[in-house]
Amino acid sequence: MSQREKAMSQREKAISQEERKARKHKAAMEKQKTNVDASIASASEERGVAILLTGNGKGKTSSAFGMVMRALGYGHKVGVVQFIKGEQLSGEEIYLKEQCPQVDFYQMGTGFTWDTQDRSGDIAAARRTWAVARPMLEDAGYHLVVLDEITYMLAYDYLPEADILSAIANRPREQSVVVTGRGGGSALQDIMDTVSEVKEVKHAFNDGVKAREGVDF
Ligand code: ATP
Ligand code: MG
Repeated sequence: MSQREKAMSQREKAISQEERKARKHKAAMEKQKTNVDASIASASEERGVAILLTGNGKGKTSSAFGMVMRALGYGHKVGVVQFIKGEQLSGEEIYLKEQCPQVDFYQMGTGFTWDTQDRSGDIAAARRTWAVARPMLEDAGYHLVVLDEITYMLAYDYLPEADILSAIANRPREQSVVVTGRGGGSALQDIMDTVSEVKEVKHAFNDGVKAREGVDF
C-alpha cells in the first residue's frame, strides 16, 4: 500500500469511528429523552414546594437568592427573612434594599451567636424575626418565601420547632418556601419536599483565601 493509500485508509477509519460515536450518542440521547418525557408526564401535581438547602459546603444562601431572581423574573411576590446577620454587609442585602423595593426583606439584625454571646437577647431577636416570617407563610400573596439560616433557631432552641414546622406545612398551597442553613434536624427534613445537602469537598478559605466580595458576601 502506498503512503497516500495508507493515509486515506486511516482517514476513513477515523471518519467511521466518528460516525459510530455520533450514532451511539444519538441513541443514548433518544433513550434519555424518552425517560425524561415519561418522568415529566408522571409529575402532574401543581403546587408550591418546600425546599431545604443544608450541609457544610458553600452554596445554600446563594442558591436561595438564585430562586429569588427566578421568581422575580416572573413578577412573583417574594419575601426574604434572614435569621442571622453577620457583621459583613452582603451584596444581596445591598441589592434588595437599593434596587428591589418590591421584595419584602427583613433581617434579624443581630450578629452571629458567637459574636453576641447573649442568649436572651438572641431569643428576643429571633422572636421578632419570626413575627415577620410567620405572616408571610400565611399570606397566599407571596409566591416565594426564603427563611435564610432559620435552621440555627432550631439548633439553638431559640424558636419552637413545632411552630415553624406547622407554619411551613400549612402555608398556602401555591406558595414555595426555601429554608437554608446547616443542620435543622430530621423533623424539618421530613416535612420538606426537596432536600439538598451541599457537601464541602474543599473551600478556598481553608487554603487561606479571604472571603470575596460579590462571591462569598
Ligand atoms: P453562600 O452564602 O456563599 O451560599 P452558604 O449559605 O452555603 O454560603 P453559610 O454556612 O451560610 O454558607 O456561610 C456563609 C459564609 O461562609 C459565606 O460567605 C460562605 O462563602 C462561607 N462558607 C460557606 N461554607 C463554607 C466552608 N465550608 N468553609 C468556609 N467558609 C464557608
Ligand atoms: Mg448561608
